[in-house]
Amino acid sequence: MLDINKIRADFPILSQKVNGKPLVYFDNGATSQKPQVVIDAISKYYQEINANIHRGVHTLSQLATDAYEASRGKIQNHINAKFAHEVLFTSGTTHGINLVTNGFASILKPGDEVLVSALEHHSNIVPWQMLCEKTGAILRVIPMNQDGELIMAEYDKLLSDKTKVVTVNHISNALGTVNPIKYMIDEAHKFGAAVLIDGAQAVAHLKPDVRELDCDFYAFSGHKICGPTGTGILYGKEAWLNKLTPYQGGGEMIKEVTFEKTTYAELPHKFEAGTPNIAGGIVLGTAVDYMNEVGFDNIQQQELELLEYGTKRLLEIEGLKIFGTAKEKTSVISFNIEGIHPYDIGTIIDKLGIAVRTGHHCAQPIMTFFNIPGTIRASFAFYNTKEEIDAMVAAVKKAQLMLS
Ligand SMILES: *Cc1c(COP(=O)(O)O)cnc(C)c1O
Repeated sequence: MLDINKIRADFPILSQKVNGKPLVYFDNGATSQKPQVVIDAISKYYQEINANIHRGVHTLSQLATDAYEASRGKIQNHINAKFAHEVLFTSGTTHGINLVTNGFASILKPGDEVLVSALEHHSNIVPWQMLCEKTGAILRVIPMNQDGELIMAEYDKLLSDKTKVVTVNHISNALGTVNPIKYMIDEAHKFGAAVLIDGAQAVAHLKPDVRELDCDFYAFSGHKICGPTGTGILYGKEAWLNKLTPYQGGGEMIKEVTFEKTTYAELPHKFEAGTPNIAGGIVLGTAVDYMNEVGFDNIQQQELELLEYGTKRLLEIEGLKIFGTAKEKTSVISFNIEGIHPYDIGTIIDKLGIAVRTGHHCAQPIMTFFNIPGTIRASFAFYNTKEEIDAMVAAVKKAQLMLS
């Protein structure tokens, strides 16, 4: 069991007041808060070892390079990648996905098919649309049901020899649905298609095992797992990464440059042009260590309790409807109240210290599916409490009274 007071003491921002009220931070789906060890590690890097990596013979450059590569190794272990060079540092999930879609530009042919799920974040839709426009490939959508679950019978029908890529999130940021990705990966592989998993939302709740999943790519952001903004990871199977062309050229990613021809560096450097976010990459390792110290079993237990309690308490409110009622679900509750715009609720409860997200959550097709402008989304992290849920429910009831 988690010692919740001890955990909360790790996060200085949580003891703040917002608008004169104790902060209740329920916007973890957008970004997580940072523990003191992460905040300290950033200044420690700049105070003690700041230097550019992979290029200097001097001591600081060595120290910075070692710390950066040690962090890569930590993340390799965390996701159980076979090789460290299959772990690419990126600026986030969006960057990772775009790296892959650009790499596929020289592989896809007109008439090839890319399957994308109906549950995706815009950052796992738009890059694939751009790729399809460029190559003449066709984007097909794996549909979902009213609970916000992907329909596997439809998925099976969509798969064919034309399918070259399947792209799906591990967990939906808008509804919290946990997708049956192991099944989806195995089925796609029967047709030789590559599978990209958008793990942006999942990594905060669980420890992905890329080798057990056997996915070809797994992208996530550091800022959603207690790490710094502007950091992320793209895991790719060695064979795929060797096949894809890099989409950014520059320093660090080359073997030899002449004006006639440039040859690319070995993995992972081929995909890491220019000076990276060195401090961020190192501190992402600190964040992963922190999450593992808390323990993903503990994290899941706390979050599932919050999900259950939050669902029960919110459903006490008259006219409240929850969107996303999948059997497999994480601690995200998307809801609306009859006759009231989500934005109005969000604005009023913010005055009461409650931070939730309102709007389409970068997933407009999901809102279109439910025929709503958006939802109010409360997304819980392991450092949240039932008392905070009580405060949110009281605030929502108050807002409802004011607005009706
Ligand atoms: C947050 C999120 C993204 C985008 O992540 P960035 O950090 O903004 O690049 C993509 N997909 C899902 C499911 C997300 O939750």
